Amino acid sequence: MVTDVLVTGAGGFIGHHLVKYLVGKGYRVRGVDIKHPEFEPSAAHEFELLDLRRFDNCLLAARGVAEVYQLAADMGGIGYITAFHARIARNNTMINVHMLEAARAHGVSRFLFSSSACIYPQYRQRTPDVTPLKEEDAYPADAEEGYGWEKLFTEKLCHYYHHDYGLETRVVRFHNVYGPLGTYEGGKEKAPAAISRKIALAHDGDEIEVWGDGEQTRSFMYVDDCVEGIHRLMRSNHADPLNLGTDELVTVNGLVDLVARIAGKRIRMRHNHAMPQGVRGRNSDNAKLREVLGWEPSTPLREGLAPTYRWIESELRASGRIVEPAVAAD
Ligand code: NAD
Repeated sequence: MVTDVLVTGAGGFIGHHLVKYLVGKGYRVRGVDIKHPEFEPSAAHEFELLDLRRFDNCLLAARGVAEVYQLAADMGGIGYITAFHARIARNNTMINVHMLEAARAHGVSRFLFSSSACIYPQYRQRTPDVTPLKEEDAYPADAEEGYGWEKLFTEKLCHYYHHDYGLETRVVRFHNVYGPLGTYEGGKEKAPAAISRKIALAHDGDEIEVWGDGEQTRSFMYVDDCVEGIHRLMRSNHADPLNLGTDELVTVNGLVDLVARIAGKRIRMRHNHAMPQGVRGRNSDNAKLREVLGWEPSTPLREGLAPTYRWIESELRASGRIVEPAVAAD
């Protein structure tokens, strides 16, 4: 039987990959976003341009579907989410409140909300060798300003819709996701893409700027693992929030070294302490993920960074931005 599903945020990075994955699994997919995917056409059977801050558009988007993957959000890397608290919190509150209510009004059976590791308390993330974050660590709450507080509130709203209306909600807390076809410039890009861009544009021996002292730590999940995990969670019976990430911790300096090795370039770092660096350390505790799904993301960082770097480099080359150093004439 073909299930009709809606993927919102289908013009964005994870949504675009998720649409491809679900189409490959035999679902009939409607993609909705305020914009088309940037780098290649959507694989969705239907793709509609709608501003999901408006309730009437959410009702249109969710018509006739059995399941909703709610990935639409105003979001970006650390520079973006620390600069626009009101705008991000307002836009995402409108999208999530209206999408949940539209799903309920249409009798949708399952609704997946894309939350974030940014909901975790800042007081648990003050050292680079941070203890991996467990789902229950979310409270007492001290989320990332703006973006994180909105995600935490919507997690609660999902719980209320589950409890009061019987809507089967699924809540996934992504830890940084990276891979090809993600934003790599313009201010919304995240560390793996930004570093790949800087190194692709650099010559052997050049210096690149790194935000903070580079000793801040993170874990990063390859997008193929991410979409598989999303689908597995949707099919599970687990209504409580669940981490989805890897526990392979790396410093930002370590990330630069990895990308430089993939690029085959010697790269020096200039640390800019004036730029935002987010929490000092963040890692995912995957015990519950393994217990609930019997599975966890498995792509090693080096393996996922290689195609990511190559894709960004090819984009920059295609747009004429990579200039080969002049070869000295004899
Ligand atoms: P993205 O920015 O690439 O995709 C989000 C999409 O939502 C964009 O295409 C955007 O146009 C769309 N959108 C924004 N406002 C909209 C509106 N008013 N109406 C319709 N569409 C709108 O981000 P992503 O990395 O694909 O993230 C997907 C989801 O996962 C988001 O909810 C994000 O908060 C969450 N998340 C992502 C990460 C990550 O590392 N990428 C980490 C934690 C959480």
